Amino acid sequence: MTTIFSHQHFLDHVTGTHPESPQRLTSIHDTLNSAGWLKSCRQGEVAKVTLDELAVVHTAKQITDARDLAAAGGGFLDPDTALSPASYDVALTAAGTAIAAVDTVMSGADANALCLIRPPGHHATADRSMGFCVFNNVAVAARHAQKKHGANRILIVDWDVHHGNGTQDIFYEDPSVFFYSIHRFPFYPGTGDEGEQGSGKGRGTTLNVPVQFGVKRDQYLDLFQSGLERAVTAARPDLILISAGFDAHVDDPVGNLGLNSIDFATMTKSVKDVANTYCNGRIVSCLEGGYHLKALADSVAAHIGVLAEPRP
Ligand SMILES: [Zn+2]
Repeated sequence: MTTIFSHQHFLDHVTGTHPESPQRLTSIHDTLNSAGWLKSCRQGEVAKVTLDELAVVHTAKQITDARDLAAAGGGFLDPDTALSPASYDVALTAAGTAIAAVDTVMSGADANALCLIRPPGHHATADRSMGFCVFNNVAVAARHAQKKHGANRILIVDWDVHHGNGTQDIFYEDPSVFFYSIHRFPFYPGTGDEGEQGSGKGRGTTLNVPVQFGVKRDQYLDLFQSGLERAVTAARPDLILISAGFDAHVDDPVGNLGLNSIDFATMTKSVKDVANTYCNGRIVSCLEGGYHLKALADSVAAHIGVLAEPRP
């Protein structure tokens, strides 16, 4: 089954007129509630990341900059990344919830987990908050899985329409975390060329599949599947983390790579199949982008519909 992590506190990150809005979670919540998923799935307890856990990924300056800006009433960490007074605390809770989800899955309490968290994380590098992201939630979760649970090899699958430059950067020289991203290219943030494959000991443990605007859905899904097979064969993961952005949806006002909601079910099924083969079904999925309120909610519902299916 699936454990869902959600909480009202994630609405307290108030961004003004901004696509990464609290209404995204309200829309997801309403749709999951009316479809019965909030009743049928186990509910996880959100938690705050400790500063020690955060410091494994992020510099002290990046952490204190976010803390101080929020404490001063809010403002902008970069031109895209707005903070309100509660945003630092909410960002700590987003990263801590990804950790709690790792604990749920690595302990065997549930096969997989979905974190309905914000702010998103995959653009945040080790020393820079950017692109709506304050701290890198999946990177913090990966490090926790290694330190606390002895997960030797982790695969991060990032299907957000944007390249996960922050996650790539954090693990670029680290062979213990394989980063696989499929994304629109050329596009924000500009990285993610297929020539970016990791360096040093991490050479070959980054896989980028750049996709041009105008791609057909079946072509995209074929590219996703073949990339996933390459990634999982190389990574042989103990745990799979998904940077689950839904902004490749055809209705998305920010991303739009032509996908329909049902395509996220197809991709989830693919990830679930390889997770069953390699790591006893262990998946932790963390919300990243997705900015059309209805398309986002329908896509998340499609994602859960597959995550929550009992294992055959
Ligand atoms: Zn995105």
